[in-house]
Amino acid sequence: MDNSSQNSFFHHRARKRFGQNFLVDENIIERIVRAIGPKETDNLVEIGPGQGAITRLLLQRCPSLTAVELDRDLIPLLQFKFRDYPEFTIVEQDALKFDFCTLTKDTGAGERMLRIVGNLPYNISTPLLFHLLSFKGKVQDMHFMLQKEVVDRLSATPGTKSYGRLSVMVQYHCRVQGLFPVPPQAFRPAPKVESAIVRLVPHAELPYPARDEQLLERIVNVAFQQRRKTLRNALKPLYPDLDTEQLPVDAGRRPETFSVQEFVQLANYCAALEDQ
Ligand code: SAM
Repeated sequence: MDNSSQNSFFHHRARKRFGQNFLVDENIIERIVRAIGPKETDNLVEIGPGQGAITRLLLQRCPSLTAVELDRDLIPLLQFKFRDYPEFTIVEQDALKFDFCTLTKDTGAGERMLRIVGNLPYNISTPLLFHLLSFKGKVQDMHFMLQKEVVDRLSATPGTKSYGRLSVMVQYHCRVQGLFPVPPQAFRPAPKVESAIVRLVPHAELPYPARDEQLLERIVNVAFQQRRKTLRNALKPLYPDLDTEQLPVDAGRRPETFSVQEFVQLANYCAALEDQ
């Protein structure tokens, strides 16, 4: 059976609630896999293999791939399609709740870092990214298909329209590289939006470490709720009595103009105040 007859044999209809837009453009699939560059020895994990469009090429290069899929109706199709790969493992789980540390496979020669890939369900992409960042110490890199608008936000620089909480918090943890756009016609059913591929590489050492990452998150959150105000006014809900003249950054600027480094300087100053 070829690919499309296998898919129809298993009668799977794309489900909106699982964000199922299956890739059908072979050139795009090859380009994605080339960008990932899987190696036989990689500890590769695919989130949401779907009907196996990317999985097939990944397995040719890395037969010990692990896939995490929530839609249990897809499991028999994947098992049948890839029955010639005995090391291929399918975990039937919600990636949002899954403990990715369990896949770090300590083979005696030390833990093997994860390489995580996926054409992610767009309806859960932001919470999933934050969930994955909680395992960043175990992750070598991540390659994802996301809405282009989300990739623009991830890679945005200060002062641009797309720059916001997602840009600061993800760039705090990772080097972000937008790779290439993918048009709606590459999928079936076609999504209503443009998509793009992004590469995220967790920093081995944080360039600007925050003393308290939760405080950094709170400050960034509150700052971008009021992005058109000055920092001085934006911080009021969190620090009503803050002497903004003493801040290590200019409180007269708008939060959307602050770099990751400046947000960390601000958060570290506030952390020191809270310690007093
Ligand atoms: N990789 C396939 C492709 O490119 O054709 C499918 C991509 S489709 C956009 C997203 C996939 O993620 C679907 O297979 C869907 O069932 C799966 N999925 C949705 N929510 C999930 C979750 N919370 N955990 C794991 N997989 C999920």
